[in-house]
Amino acid sequence: TKRLKILDIWVDAITKPEAMQKVADILKNGQRPHAIFAANPEKNFSVPKDPELHKIFEQADILLPDGIGMVWAARTLYGANLDRIPGAEFFEDICALAAQGGYKVFIYGSTEEVNRQSAEILQARFPGLLIAGRAHGYLGIKDMPALIKHINSSQAEILFIALGSPKQEKWFGAHKDSLRSVKIVQGIGGTLDTIVG
Ligand code: UDP
Repeated sequence: TKRLKILDIWVDAITKPEAMQKVADILKNGQRPHAIFAANPEKNFSVPKDPELHKIFEQADILLPDGIGMVWAARTLYGANLDRIPGAEFFEDICALAAQGGYKVFIYGSTEEVNRQSAEILQARFPGLLIAGRAHGYLGIKDMPALIKHINSSQAEILFIALGSPKQEKWFGAHKDSLRSVKIVQGIGGTLDTIVG
């Protein structure tokens, strides 16, 4: 996959089938947590000012062309013809893959109410989806060791983080080395709120 630099962030010149294939391969053969984040122009405002965040984005395994702004920029700067891959859409595709392949999912983020309701909705929408654990997104720093233990004991291979950006990317940077079973991590922002409606 070619990674295109757009101002101070990047976007991957990748199609949805290619990105899904990459996720499937990582779930089969991955040995560490791999990050999927959405690339959109808003992030150009926070990423350059924050070296830590810059590194987290730079090292991400997949940077989805989430926003139309990135698609336009890629065309203008590189003549690249990218299709949009909205993060929320990719999230649902991963849920379908998880249900089909028997991969366990952990959902971290949003309010307790939204988190619980979205878990129910997803289980109805994707029969067989194994939600091995979930936690709301308003835990404090002192709760992090227990959360990590919860995620690890759930044996989840897939972790969705719904803390908004850049909180979710920073959480991944800070805790990725403590994750044991997780192979795929997607930052899904406010997607759970949209699902609950
Ligand atoms: N959120 C959270 N913990 C926080 C702050 C936010 O769980 O400390 C959740 C919030 O409930 C919402 C999501 O993160 O579900 C933020 O969504 P937003 O649309 O702001 O994020 P974006 O999609 O723009 O990154």
